[in-house]
Amino acid sequence: MISSITENHTIVIIGAGPAGSMASAFLSREGIPHLLIDKAVFPRDKICGDALSGKVFTILKKLDPNIRSKMGALESDFLPCEGIVFVAPNGKSLDVPFKSKSANTIEGPAGFVSPRMKFDQYLHNYIDLKYADFRESTELMAIERDSEGLILTLSSNGKPYEVRTKLLISADGERSLAAKSIGGIKKEPDHFSAGIRMYFEGVTGMHPKNYIELHFIKDFLPGYLWIFPLPNGKANVGAGVLSKHASKQKMNLRQMLLDCISSNPAIKDRFKNAKPMEKVQGWGLPLGSKKRKLSGDNFILTGDAASLIDPFTGEGISNAMFSGMMAAETAAEALKMNDYSDVFLQAYETKVYRRLSGELKLSRTMQKLCNYPFLFNLVVNKAERNREFRETISCMFDDLDLRAKLKKPGFYFNLVFGGK
Ligand SMILES: Cc1cc2nc3c(=O)[nH]c(=O)nc-3n(C[C@H](O)[C@H](O)[C@H](O)COP(=O)(O)OP(=O)(O)OC[C@H]3O[C@@H](n4cnc5c(N)ncnc54)[C@H](O)[C@@H]3O)c2cc1C
Repeated sequence: MISSITENHTIVIIGAGPAGSMASAFLSREGIPHLLIDKAVFPRDKICGDALSGKVFTILKKLDPNIRSKMGALESDFLPCEGIVFVAPNGKSLDVPFKSKSANTIEGPAGFVSPRMKFDQYLHNYIDLKYADFRESTELMAIERDSEGLILTLSSNGKPYEVRTKLLISADGERSLAAKSIGGIKKEPDHFSAGIRMYFEGVTGMHPKNYIELHFIKDFLPGYLWIFPLPNGKANVGAGVLSKHASKQKMNLRQMLLDCISSNPAIKDRFKNAKPMEKVQGWGLPLGSKKRKLSGDNFILTGDAASLIDPFTGEGISNAMFSGMMAAETAAEALKMNDYSDVFLQAYETKVYRRLSGELKLSRTMQKLCNYPFLFNLVVNKAERNREFRETISCMFDDLDLRAKLKKPGFYFNLVFGGK
């Protein structure tokens, strides 16, 4: 039974993960009051690879110019990471340092790995309680609509109450209630990955500069297995595969991960003395390989609720944070104009895709390449022999024009018939 209490909040953010906490921080920066709720109590875990790319800092720098050096000083929570190891299906590996046009101008490391238990809590430093009415242990249970806007049923410690709002910012992740109900977003196996994670202690053979490792092992293709180093000698080990393939090939990802660790000749020795810190955990990745409608009358979808995860790398944290920032910007404009209509809020979708659609499209192409292991082997073989080509691959992580080369058949022609 809904309590008789009804509150009014012009802007309500559901979810205080990377998308929601950034939406809140950027609204507060404009001095805009809002309600922010999360059903969890923080610090809370989130199944993830825990890798933070340079894009995370581009956003955080707007809130705190010294963010990289501050994080670098928190060694027990944030492990600096300088690159990626790719292991091709033929077993050959390629070390790719993160390089960019800005490599010499940034202070601190290019990326970090940090357990979400720590990182999401760190982001909460930017939630300003002067403007954010932040309620944990508070769940969105239902959404209704009337002529004034939306009526939300929230529940705190089992007690339901009503909140009326003009603008709902949905940042409630992969299983978002708003995305499914008012957003009409459906789970599509060709644009959704299954993911699993297991924390370990004592995995050996990590890269001296804490490179994250992507293993394109035959059984997992077109997905991959990862081994990411964490602070304090721990490791995040997991795998992700497009749901369409996982169900077609009847993959039991959990069992495959355990089998790989215990019997894959290239990996098993590194786990000889390793201790699992948990059972295999699973969670979905809604991919941004398809454009969706990200807003409507009185609502905006952000982060995983908006399906913005990079389809090749699985990176979703920075896109969630970016969309949170754009949601705050659009909400501020809507407030000023007192216009929360579908037409007005479409500006949000335009801003998000203007920045992200190029790289999401390229990543879709790279994701498809995983269906052709021989091409992967070719790239790694060539990079092993040719320093210049290796450097081009390094820069591809930051340079979209270079990455676009991967879409051109000529790139592969040169790989096969080009010199060296
Ligand atoms: C296996 C795996 C590995 C990944 N690896 C990486 C990686 O290495 N790097 C990377 O960048 N990305 C990675 N991702 C993607 C990344 O985890 C997500 O993109 C990111 O967490 C999205 O942030 P978000 O704020 O949108 O949602 P979330 O982080 O999921 O936060 C949503 C919040 O909403 C709250 N919530 C949900 N429903 C309700 C409700 N009804 N009422 C109130 N609160 C609610 C939840 O408690 C939660 O705190 C990975 C994902 C998976 C599954």
